[in-house]
Amino acid sequence: NPFLALGVTEDFIQGLEELGIRKPTPIQRKAIPHLIEDGRDYIAQAQTGTGKTAAFGLPLLAKMDPKDKSIQGLVVAPTRELAKQIGKQLFRYTKYSAKVFVEVVSGGDNIDRQCAALKRPTQIVVATPGRLLDLIERKALDLSAVKYLVLDEADEMLSMGFQKQLDQVFKLTPARKGTWLFSATFPPKVEALVNNNLSAKAPFQK
Ligand code: AMP
Repeated sequence: NPFLALGVTEDFIQGLEELGIRKPTPIQRKAIPHLIEDGRDYIAQAQTGTGKTAAFGLPLLAKMDPKDKSIQGLVVAPTRELAKQIGKQLFRYTKYSAKVFVEVVSGGDNIDRQCAALKRPTQIVVATPGRLLDLIERKALDLSAVKYLVLDEADEMLSMGFQKQLDQVFKLTPARKGTWLFSATFPPKVEALVNNNLSAKAPFQK
C-alpha cells in the first residue's frame, strides 16, 4: 500500500482501504510525509474533493498520543456539514488503530450534550468557530494543550466573518504549536491571517 511509503502506519491502512483510499492524491503525496516528519506550520492550497481531509487528518492522527487525555489536535472548519464530514473521516481512519478519540462540536447541535461529551478523554476536536468559542466560555473545553491546529477552508471562514473567532483561537492555543492552513484561495484576508499567525518560514504547497 503506497500510504506506508508516505509514513502512514499499518494500523490505519485497513480503515483507509474500506473507504476506497488506496492510492494517494497529489496533495496527500506532498502533505502527508512532510507533516508527519515536520509538523510545524504548513500552508496548502487545496480545493474540496482533492483528498485534503486525509492530507491533514492522517498526519494529525499520527501525531496524537493516545495515553495523553488532553486535546492535542484542533481542526476548525467553516460549516457544521464540513466539520461532521471531517469527524466522520477521522473516525473511520481510526477504526483499526490505537484509540484516538475525536469529538465534533458544531453549531446547531445541543450544547449541553456537547459539554457532557467533552468530559470524556478527547484527543482531537473538530469544530466550527462560533460553537468552539461558546464551549470555551462555558469552560467545557480547554485549548492549552493543543499541539496542532488545522484551519480547513480558511478563505471560507474569513469570508463568513469568523476573523475575530480565529484570532481568539490563536490567542487561546499555545504559541508553540504547528498550524496547518488549508485554503482554496488566498485573498488578502487569508494572507493577513497567515502573516500574523504563522511562521514566515512555513512551506506553501500549491
Ligand atoms: P476531501 O477532498 O478530503 O473532501 O475528500 C473527498 C472524497 O475523496 C472523500 O469521500 C474521500 O473519502 C475521498 N478520498 C480521499 N482520498 C482519496 C484517495 N486517495 N483515493 C480515493 N478516494 C479518496
